[in-house]
Amino acid sequence: MKFSDIPAHDFAKQRLKAFVDINKIPHAILLEGPCGIGKFALARAFAQYIHCQNRINGDSCGKCPSCLQHESYNHIDTHFVFPVVKKSSPKKSFSDDYIDVWKDYLSENPYMDFQKWLVALDNVNAQPAIYVDESEELIRKLNFTSHQAKYKVVLFWLPERMNQECANKLLKLIEEPYGDTLFVFVSNNSREILPTIYSRTQRIELKRLSDEVIAQYLVDNYAVEAQDALALAHIADGNIIEADKMVSLSKENQRFFELFIQLMRLSYQRKVKELKSWSVDVAGLGREQIMRFLTYIQRLIRENFIYNLSVSELNYLNKEEAQFSQNFAKFITENNVIKLIDVFNKALTDISGNANAKIVLYDMSIKVILLLKS
Ligand SMILES: [Zn+2]
Repeated sequence: MKFSDIPAHDFAKQRLKAFVDINKIPHAILLEGPCGIGKFALARAFAQYIHCQNRINGDSCGKCPSCLQHESYNHIDTHFVFPVVKKSSPKKSFSDDYIDVWKDYLSENPYMDFQKWLVALDNVNAQPAIYVDESEELIRKLNFTSHQAKYKVVLFWLPERMNQECANKLLKLIEEPYGDTLFVFVSNNSREILPTIYSRTQRIELKRLSDEVIAQYLVDNYAVEAQDALALAHIADGNIIEADKMVSLSKENQRFFELFIQLMRLSYQRKVKELKSWSVDVAGLGREQIMRFLTYIQRLIRENFIYNLSVSELNYLNKEEAQFSQNFAKFITENNVIKLIDVFNKALTDISGNANAKIVLYDMSIKVILLLKS
């Protein structure tokens, strides 16, 4: 992982590089900030930069033996620590037990989707943690393994999941640093890190990604059209993991959009009988999906209202939605926008409370008829 492989975070990159360039690297660094923004990727790029034998243009070269080892997660002086599931047998539990699973996970999830880590651990209900065995193993490794590079680097994912016992032991490593060992902690929730550890780190705070950065990521990785990418990015709220999910949800989005158009056309034409069969169709989606659909409708209604105000920078519609809105938006006015959203929200509440979906949806569609005319 090179710095240039990671979007944004210019300030953090400059700081990390400066540590190396002036040869004053803190023994414990903490990269803190929301999940899904590339913090762990940055930690990996930092380790690779430290070890690279031929740094070039403020980045690692990507070609030297050290870089190649980093790219395959096999650099001998780079150690990974991450939360694991405790085994039921008396055997100790630490990261290296799971190292193959971890390497596969890293190669597929550079943005570290925690939910997918649970899947990789084969236990979606687990509460993985970093246990005291981990500190003992780390002390053993750092003491006894030979090394090639000037620095050994420990990339430590989610220190907030480390238990007290583990932290106490780890403290010794951080307090009496082996001159050649560096810790890079990466946290999604740094307030939950034990204060003894937190206070000893040099902290670098990273912010959520901008919508533009996320949109560019979607264009580059999924060949999404620019306008669609920006619409998705807005919903992803600065989080690339969410953006990835958005793309996989876009098929569902397409179906919701079709159902929304049907609802609006049939309501406008007062086709009560057809609305009844529409309600049956939507009821067939099942409770969870109906709830997502009703949330989707509310967003489209809101966006169509804004569309009328011609505040283009506030508009987050994809291309097809925007085309539909050219003719439709004029029906969403200050007279009905709030009432419409209330109707959909009421339906959402009823569905979440297990009310009969066909009845709720049909009732909702009749109210839409009246509100579209107001
Ligand atoms: Zn290199």
